[in-house]
Amino acid sequence: MNDDEVVIIGAGICGLATALALHKKGIKSVVMERAESLRNVTGAAIGIRPNGWRALDQLGVAETLRRTAIPLQRQRVISLDGGRQKEISLVRLEYEIRCLRRKDLIDTLYAALPLDTVKFGCQLESIKLGPHSTKPILRFIDGSSVIAKVVIGCDGGKSIVSEFLNLKPTKMFPLCAVRGLTNYPNGHSYDYEFARFMKDNVIIGRIAIDDNSVYWFCSLPFNPKDEKGWKDPEVIRQSTLELLSDFPQEIKEMIENTDMESLSFTHLRYRAPRDLLTGTFCKGTVTVAGDAMHVMGPFLGQGGSAALEDAVVLARTMAQLGLNNVGSGSKVTIHGVEKAFNQFVKQRRMRIVWLSLQTYLTGMLSGTSLGPKKILYIWLLKVLFPNPNGHIDYDCGEL
Ligand SMILES: Cc1cc2nc3c(=O)[nH]c(=O)nc-3n(C[C@H](O)[C@H](O)[C@H](O)COP(=O)(O)OP(=O)(O)OC[C@H]3O[C@@H](n4cnc5c(N)ncnc54)[C@H](O)[C@@H]3O)c2cc1C
Repeated sequence: MNDDEVVIIGAGICGLATALALHKKGIKSVVMERAESLRNVTGAAIGIRPNGWRALDQLGVAETLRRTAIPLQRQRVISLDGGRQKEISLVRLEYEIRCLRRKDLIDTLYAALPLDTVKFGCQLESIKLGPHSTKPILRFIDGSSVIAKVVIGCDGGKSIVSEFLNLKPTKMFPLCAVRGLTNYPNGHSYDYEFARFMKDNVIIGRIAIDDNSVYWFCSLPFNPKDEKGWKDPEVIRQSTLELLSDFPQEIKEMIENTDMESLSFTHLRYRAPRDLLTGTFCKGTVTVAGDAMHVMGPFLGQGGSAALEDAVVLARTMAQLGLNNVGSGSKVTIHGVEKAFNQFVKQRRMRIVWLSLQTYLTGMLSGTSLGPKKILYIWLLKVLFPNPNGHIDYDCGEL
């Protein structure tokens, strides 16, 4: 690789989307991914809301992805404690919400990139600035190093690039999540809906992807004893089933029949909203995007869509400042890149502060039993977010 390119760290949703957005604006990049191949199974599936579809439209992959998942018709919350039920018609609101298999999303973004954009088996160990240069030096765990002109850290919630930027460490929610996919070869009988079943502090979400596949997740209080044991898919399945002994039979069957490869357990992580308000998200020609910048809980299902928005805004600001030839030894100055990154951060900061704050309050509310804290979270959500679906209306604009 030339020691001069735009280097993106991480080939997750954000890294691939950023490379694609840059490519569409004529900016060449290389993506360095630590895994040996595309990480397209972890996490099973992902709900994409209208703001995410707007970003996918800009990236030119929305039509391909629409063919992989049905539009959902309603959202339903069912309290199994008191039998209460709340329903929202997505058709009436004209909200396009679909649940994509992560594999479809990751594979589609990857397929839209020029060949050889992604280099696998490259795990970043550290970043430093050279003694006589302002160019970042990337060191990988195999001992190799690269001098990059521009570095975009899309390396997720445990980002090495965010450490270089001296961002405060991320925090853990007292909650964790199990995710899986269940296939029904003869078709399932569920409605095209996002249904959430709640009992005590446990929430089960069930979303139809198409007529044969269903994505489900279970959010539950975190117990430090669980973390080690919940790595083996069989343990994850059995432990989840034990937890859900009082849930309806159809839910237990869905979990019983899960595709074992798709099962995962995650302790939920977030960047505190106040750290998002004050954090320095770029230094020189290094910045972060996606979870590396703003990892958040899944309670609004917006982390991935926010990462897609980042990709569009970042590529647009870089192109607006004439960085289209950054990789080919042109006269692009460090100052020009810094200016683009400052504008990117400026455009994204308040969007992610509000999104993360709403996500944080929603998560804390679902993890808190009755009491003054619960009342406080309800009150804050009502006052600060009078339109709870406002985050969906956001438009990241044209690429
Ligand atoms: C339970 C759960 C449910 C969710 N549901 C939704 C949802 O419905 N809708 C939604 O929009 N969002 C959802 N999210 C959030 C969404 O999954 C994330 O926001 C999204 O995956 C972030 O993408 P990313 O590319 O920034 O990070 P990641 O997906 O974490 O990708 C980071 C990539 O960087 C690589 N990497 C890491 N470190 C290094 C290194 N040192 N060197 C090289 N490569 C490295 C990793 O291998 C990985 O490929 C959910 C999250 C969770 C936990």
